[in-house]
Amino acid sequence: MNIKLARAGLFSLAIALGATAQAATPAATTAAADTAAQAIEAKMLTWRRDFHQHPELGNAEVRSAKIIADHLKKLGMKVRTGVAKTGVVGVLEGGRPGPTVALRADMDALPVKENLGLPFESKATGTYRGQTVPVMHACGHDTHMAILMATAEILAGMKKDLPGKVVFLFQPAEEGPSDFEAGTGQTWGAKAMVEQGALADPKPDAIFGLHVFSGMETGTLAWRAGPLMASADSYSVTVTGRQTHGALPWRGVDPVVASAQIINGLQTIVSRQLDISKEPAIVSVGQIHGGVRYNIIPDEVVFEGTLRAFDEGMREDMHKRVAQTSASIAEASGAKAETKVTKIYDVTSNDPALTAKMRPTLVRVAGAKPWTDNVQKSTGAEDFSELSRVAPSLFLFLGISKPGEEKTAAANHSPFFYVDEAGLIQGVRALTHLTVDYLHGVDAPKP
Ligand SMILES: [Zn+2]
Ligand SMILES: [Zn+2]
Repeated sequence: MNIKLARAGLFSLAIALGATAQAATPAATTAAADTAAQAIEAKMLTWRRDFHQHPELGNAEVRSAKIIADHLKKLGMKVRTGVAKTGVVGVLEGGRPGPTVALRADMDALPVKENLGLPFESKATGTYRGQTVPVMHACGHDTHMAILMATAEILAGMKKDLPGKVVFLFQPAEEGPSDFEAGTGQTWGAKAMVEQGALADPKPDAIFGLHVFSGMETGTLAWRAGPLMASADSYSVTVTGRQTHGALPWRGVDPVVASAQIINGLQTIVSRQLDISKEPAIVSVGQIHGGVRYNIIPDEVVFEGTLRAFDEGMREDMHKRVAQTSASIAEASGAKAETKVTKIYDVTSNDPALTAKMRPTLVRVAGAKPWTDNVQKSTGAEDFSELSRVAPSLFLFLGISKPGEEKTAAANHSPFFYVDEAGLIQGVRALTHLTVDYLHGVDAPKP
């Protein structure tokens, strides 16, 4: 046995001793949590519909934040407001000492015009980067707020017996600030909340969060250990040539043809250069701008796109390769290419040890409803990833599409995005049970 192994052995022995020293969650506690979840369901749906009817864009969640802060105060919590503009942090102190769990919900809506014909349809408008736009909770953050408010009320009701603390984190601007100004260092909501100390005191030992997704049957709980959602970065490439007549290309340097070659060349980063047997990756171009007239070869072309990865090393590597491929291909024709990459979201990755520890809890919560601990990775991104830097974390997907409609349901961000509200109670149960079981330190009791 080498020294490393001997150390690992001692370490796991310490964990085992630590675990047996704590008592399991009493079965009566989990049963009481479920009874309370049922009792609060109707109230939660009223909150959700109200939020849905009054959506607010990232960093403008003033009304939502006030409702949440008032609720948490009424539950007897210490509440901080105005964190990272509109964020709300509530701390519930259990009656007994123990670890700290943080639970997170995002509050922002999207510049989307709702087209569902619901009785509580949004007619709201907001200001998105200087323009007046229609606003809709097209990503379901209205449900996240209502689910976490209900969870807070249930946990506050069992405060006396809770061994530890619970931090309720309601964050702005998960989809990005609606008042974003490039170059100001302004960040997305989760990062700003962490920077302003939302998780500094008390510092959590574990963080849980969830997201509703269409395309999964109502009430489905889905998760996986390790990378769950991609990193998402934007990049722009400025290709500079020399302007000339379209009939005399040899008198200048053509940035249009160079850009076409670069864009094709960028596709070889994923297909030829990255080890995609490790993790998948994506390089996409979303916009190209250049030129003003059909017979003038312009001085400059600018194109922009998005980069997705599931591994932080591959992500960094991809950034370098985009710059290098662009510069080298441009150079071949005498043009110049300058690349700027802006990091937006890190990889959302579930801590393997925490995920394994909480698996029995999630399986019990799922009960007869569908669940999977090996859900397909999503190439979408989440700023929940910022919270994972503070403590081990676990992020879940919750299904909200009626059985039989999973394949045809409109995706999140669509004007037709629809939430089957019957699934939301599973979200409340999941967050409540995860918290209670984690605070009690060991796996949940058998039902
Ligand atoms: Zn979204
Ligand atoms: Zn979302």
